[in-house]
Amino acid sequence: SASERKLNLSRSRALFQEAQQVMPGGVNSPVRAFRGVGGEPVFLERAEGAYLYDVDGNRYLDFVQSWGPMILGFGYPSVLEAVTEASKRGFTFGAPTQAETELARLVIESVPSVEMIRFVNSGTEATMSALRVARAYTGRSKIVKFTGCYHGHADMLLVQAGSGVATLGLPDSPGVPSETTANTLSVPYNDKEAIKQVFQTYANEIAAVIVEPVAANMGLVLPVPGFLELLRELTTKHGALLIFDEVMTGFRVALGGMQERVQITPDLTCFGKIIGGGLPVGAYGGRREIMQVVAPLGPMYQAGTLSGNPLAMASGIATLKELRKPGQYELLEQKSQLLGEGIARVLHDTNTDAQITRIGAMFCLYFTREPVHNYADAKRASTERFASYFWEMLERGYYLPPSQFESCFLSLAQEEAQLQEMVQSIETVLRQQA
Ligand code: PMP
Repeated sequence: SASERKLNLSRSRALFQEAQQVMPGGVNSPVRAFRGVGGEPVFLERAEGAYLYDVDGNRYLDFVQSWGPMILGFGYPSVLEAVTEASKRGFTFGAPTQAETELARLVIESVPSVEMIRFVNSGTEATMSALRVARAYTGRSKIVKFTGCYHGHADMLLVQAGSGVATLGLPDSPGVPSETTANTLSVPYNDKEAIKQVFQTYANEIAAVIVEPVAANMGLVLPVPGFLELLRELTTKHGALLIFDEVMTGFRVALGGMQERVQITPDLTCFGKIIGGGLPVGAYGGRREIMQVVAPLGPMYQAGTLSGNPLAMASGIATLKELRKPGQYELLEQKSQLLGEGIARVLHDTNTDAQITRIGAMFCLYFTREPVHNYADAKRASTERFASYFWEMLERGYYLPPSQFESCFLSLAQEEAQLQEMVQSIETVLRQQA
């Protein structure tokens, strides 16, 4: 590498060797192993504000933010205090606390389509449970998802679709019986004809359509105009529920999530990440009439020992209170726009075969010039060029998601000067690569 700064990652390397002895791939979630960039992971020790510090003493400006939750940055005083105080009162009771109602109210006030909510411990649980609600409420079995959308690792959702045509689901992973995914229909993202066709074929069998209103698990793919509107129209017409998976986009692209931006009212919404402020929380909610099927009010069973955990609720409440203050999303947009426009300018000036997609405080640098509207498009991006860019940026102190198919996140803790400096670093790296 032509970079003058050679990163010392020796302690990370040693810890990774040890970790691999006791955990599959040395990690507790596959993407962390850095396989997407052909290397070994950085072991982190602590974080403060916008910065991460690794075990070798290197400092990085953080664009992963634990995959989304840390929108205020690390060690935000009011969040830290709320969690510390809650921890003194007791870690978990498995009994009702006022904090659950308080966080529920904060979400409900921020997202008008949500009238009732149930807290769980992860995004995976949120989508799994929302689909159970949809099936219970409609009495139907089939669900529709989109290729390249990730909704957690529940069996029925681990489905890779075929090409342009909607196909009956085939499991993505060994260990998922084909019977489990037999009711999962998969359609290319942004493909209006394919989704119309699915509703023509399975009109009265579809319980729900679940969608990432911005697809952030294949890089960052925005919905084309009319796509989400069509989903609303078709589901309403055919008596199916529309589920927005806003685990990523909730409280990120706007206080009210992507549904606020596009002014579409889904029947159910899934949350995670930001609503826990960095502690494990997920949630699903929606129309009162639908949520009333959930036990103990209704017959649909769903439960959790640690659900509504006091520390997690305290973290979520403090985070959402901060985000609900006037001007926060405008500020975030200002920072994001500065970075987004800076990167776009650099791509143009360096004539790089790449593009940036962005919405609010999330963006992706795709190493392809072809427009990206779905998973097949995204897969045309050069993962080799991305990997090289990733390592050069890491050397310069920028911690990016270690995969071409993940979104980058900005936080309120990042300063404009830091973002401007980053744009310069990107320019240096791209010129060097050219
Ligand atoms: N839905 C979406 C849109 C996600 O991005 C993710 C995780 N990145 C999930 C669901 C699953 O959430 P978790 O990892 O908390 O189970």
